[in-house]
Amino acid sequence: MNIAYLSLGSNLGGRAENLRLGLRLLNEVEKTRVERASTFHRASPVGMENAREFLNAAARVNTALDAPALLAALKNIERAAGRADGGAKWTPRTLDIDIIFFGAERLNTPSLTVPHPRYAERLFVLLPLLEIEPELADPDGTPLARIVDEGKLENRFAGQMVEKIEDKA
Ligand code: ADP
Ligand code: MG
Repeated sequence: MNIAYLSLGSNLGGRAENLRLGLRLLNEVEKTRVERASTFHRASPVGMENAREFLNAAARVNTALDAPALLAALKNIERAAGRADGGAKWTPRTLDIDIIFFGAERLNTPSLTVPHPRYAERLFVLLPLLEIEPELADPDGTPLARIVDEGKLENRFAGQMVEKIEDKA
């Protein structure tokens, strides 16, 4: 079994509904269980001018799938949640699910890079992950909590608003 850490985001349609559907469908993926899910966080869009605010969450799943099979399942869930096919990167989406870590694996193929290449720059990924696992570390050993602290000191998260919302509704 593998432990994977996922980041979920939505900025189109019923965002909380989309995240809840995503988590439910994740739990229905073959040989896969959602072990933990974070609360939802409001986040300013990064890299998208004038886009609507996101809702983001993180999940830890236990899966017997390998990383490419898990990614294929995530894409099916994105489609089921109404995400249009062939949409450009960085466009509004009903549901985006990214693999941040897949055990300690390192993959770099055209369709899958793990650990996710930009996770350490994104507070909306880091903070929900830390909520479900405060001790979580990158496979290279760096604790995510340290990435957040140093990033704040070095002003690397300038302009990124991330705010936990208590009510998942
Ligand atoms: P983004 O998530 O960067 O906004 P998309 O969701 O449109 O963009 O993803 C584009 C492609 O990124 C996916 O089709 C997938 O093959 C690829 N990809 C590469 N690495 C990962 C990863 N770690 N998690 C999810 N998708 C990934
Ligand atoms: Mg994605």
